Amino acid sequence: MWAFERRADPLFGGRAAHVVSAASGTAAITAAILAVAGPATASAPLALMPSHTFIATAQAAGLCGYRPWFVDVDATSWALDPQRLRGHPRLDRAGVVVVVAPYGRLPDIEAWTAFAAETGRAVVIDAAASAEALARRADAAPDAPVGVPVAISLHATKPLACGEGGLVLWSDRDGLERAAQALNFGFLGSRSARASGFNGKMSEYHAAVGLAALDGWAERVAAAERMHARIAEAARHRGLAGCLIGHPDIASCYLLHDIGDVSDPAARTRALAELLDGCGVEHRLWYGGGVHREPVFAGSDERDALPVTEALAARLIGVPVHAPGAHSDADAARVLDALERMRPDRMERMR
Ligand SMILES: *Cc1c(COP(=O)(O)O)cnc(C)c1O
Repeated sequence: MWAFERRADPLFGGRAAHVVSAASGTAAITAAILAVAGPATASAPLALMPSHTFIATAQAAGLCGYRPWFVDVDATSWALDPQRLRGHPRLDRAGVVVVVAPYGRLPDIEAWTAFAAETGRAVVIDAAASAEALARRADAAPDAPVGVPVAISLHATKPLACGEGGLVLWSDRDGLERAAQALNFGFLGSRSARASGFNGKMSEYHAAVGLAALDGWAERVAAAERMHARIAEAARHRGLAGCLIGHPDIASCYLLHDIGDVSDPAARTRALAELLDGCGVEHRLWYGGGVHREPVFAGSDERDALPVTEALAARLIGVPVHAPGAHSDADAARVLDALERMRPDRMERMR
């Protein structure tokens, strides 16, 4: 575990930020919230967050006692907008703002650090799928601080995978110590629990797998870039360039088909899903219909109007993309062939 942290530290933090390891991405988000904000209080019971995310974002805040308040995302970045959030009427009741890096697209860490400083609100960034983007950032600007805690997932589906695992990345050494404390029952330097905590430690077994993943990391990054460049090229040939979103815009573990701004996206999505089913091509709405639609939050009306979230949930369909080493052009061709049959211009002609 120490060996894994020592090697992951410069990769994601450059010279300016450091990591602690965790049992999962969810454990990392939970520990980051406890470290920067502590558990919910009566005067600050809310966690402001987007609904266009994986359920773990909201569950982590819930485990710290917060009630999620869902805020709509920006139509271009698909993420919370720090400028718009400054004037949010619930901000004074929020103990924490959990920002999400959708599909690994990294939000502006500096802008969120400024938001936290100006508003006095604690901020956590759930950058579960952003290992590649964070490594690129640390490489390009090794002295750039990470002013708010950033949680990374090392789950099998994510770019740097060790089975189950996570990291908290942050420039604040004391803050990271509190995150490590939260991940270790609230213990720090003794067997006396002085803060809220749980068993969120990364196991030595997963750390060993993580070390092996780090051995192959540079090669994987290069292979993922080549793979997505080939997919993008093949998509262009099929007239799909405008509706396929891949790496490096988003993490290499995703390939998204964007239905586009059509009048009835839900109907188009259903038709595409049926067509993909017919072709034996798996597909997934990675963020479902938005977290606010999950049954666990069905009884809650603690949210803003979410038109962009609703539209994105109907528009963005995940299609299969392999890990770089396991990928063949024939696999990509099968997916693209199916998508080509649903090309918007062809659909118009079918009317
Ligand atoms: C994967 C993911 C998580 C959860 O990470 P785990 O390691 O599976 O706990 C949380 N948030 C987002 C946005 C994710 O994509």
